[in-house]
Amino acid sequence: MYRRNIKHILGPLAVLIAIFIFYQSWLKPQYFHETPAPPPQVISDEKSSASTGPVAPPPQPVVPEIKRSRTIDPVSIPVPRHSELLGAIHEELEKHNIALAEAKLQELPASILSESATKRHVAILWNNLGILQENNGGTEISVKAFKKAVALDPQNPVAHLNLAHAYWGLRDPALTEEFLRKVLTLSPDEPFPHVALADLLQEKDHLSEAGKHLAQAKERLKKDPGLQSYVKAVTAKVHRTEKVEEKFSTHNSVHFTVKYDGSEDPETWTAVLDILEEAYREIGQKFNFFPSKPIMVVLHTKNQFQGATGSPIWADGLFDPVLGRIQIPTQGAATDRAWLTRVLRHEFVHALIHEELGATGGAIPTWLNEGLAMQLASDSWQDVGNIPAGDNSLVPLAALEGSWENLPAEKVGVAYMEANAATHYLIERFGMHKVQEVLVHLKARQTIAAAMQDRLLLSYENFQHQWAESLGATVPSPKS
Ligand SMILES: [Zn+2]
Repeated sequence: MYRRNIKHILGPLAVLIAIFIFYQSWLKPQYFHETPAPPPQVISDEKSSASTGPVAPPPQPVVPEIKRSRTIDPVSIPVPRHSELLGAIHEELEKHNIALAEAKLQELPASILSESATKRHVAILWNNLGILQENNGGTEISVKAFKKAVALDPQNPVAHLNLAHAYWGLRDPALTEEFLRKVLTLSPDEPFPHVALADLLQEKDHLSEAGKHLAQAKERLKKDPGLQSYVKAVTAKVHRTEKVEEKFSTHNSVHFTVKYDGSEDPETWTAVLDILEEAYREIGQKFNFFPSKPIMVVLHTKNQFQGATGSPIWADGLFDPVLGRIQIPTQGAATDRAWLTRVLRHEFVHALIHEELGATGGAIPTWLNEGLAMQLASDSWQDVGNIPAGDNSLVPLAALEGSWENLPAEKVGVAYMEANAATHYLIERFGMHKVQEVLVHLKARQTIAAAMQDRLLLSYENFQHQWAESLGATVPSPKS
């Protein structure tokens, strides 16, 4: 029998890499929260003096959810050699065989990476692997692939943009000014690097430079309504803040920067720094998380607080995640120390949670965010389980996950009490370590139900029932 020796003839490698478009959405959560217990002197209507309960969170001025698309343009780089190897990886990627493609990329012999054309090609493969991984398992997984792509091709604009997006999503400290300036150079028409750079500058309190980058981002925004409204809202906020704080003075402690109207009584800002440094040690240890960079605290005079921060007259303080700062109203020497301590500790916990969860922190249910703030700040006004007597039916936690701003006023006090009680039960029963594990899952954009099932081996529903039972209460079954 004659057998023709068929040589497998490979056609030229298809170097057109498929266009991957994917959307990454990230949230810049808005924690415009008051502290749970507004002091009687803030509101003097009969309702508030009758109850020490909390009041409704201020309306959220912006919901800057950004949806970004990243397109990889078809790239054509002639690859004279190794086409078989690379072509095989390309095929696996086309078939979405992520693990196999990654294994093959890892196994590529170092020798073939000595050619620059091949290196550039392999960088594209890593980049595209990253996109598949991102869609499949999230940014924490994809970031490594984008790093590889950037390392292999330090001039690839798309890979740099993708890595910048990934860093942003993870709030990775590798998203430095230097890195972003390089991304800007490589992709001069993209708005995103300007937005990210503005964000870094805002947090460093370089507001006027941040404003310039926001303006440049604006010029580059065309078909991106999500980013457009975010930039618009942030721009307004940056300009307002810059104006308000123009003549403010700053003082630093090790982990905090306090910024205040120059006429502020020195006793107040030293007290603020003392309280916060103590909170840093004590709460950081309890929560097992320490912020990586100094947190800014802005002291406003009582009269200016509302106008400066856009918060309602009754708000006691807030953590603003867009500018990354705690803002509180003070009254100079007349500032009540106990009140100051309570507000600062509460907002400090929000700042911690914000940093830990990063840009995706919107995923944390409000009841857990507020509950942790109350539990960790050791706020004394709440008696755990202090659910109104005679009312044994709790509001389901699922109804307390989103913004509380539309809750009817009479429900807000209950919401805080339930948040506090449920979080207390969670910590007592499972320990802070497990709570942290749940947060890690939330950070990876899992739902609270999935995170609980995974880390506590308990369904969200059962958690709720067992917690309600511990209070001698019930939770109505969800009507569907
Ligand atoms: Zn709060």
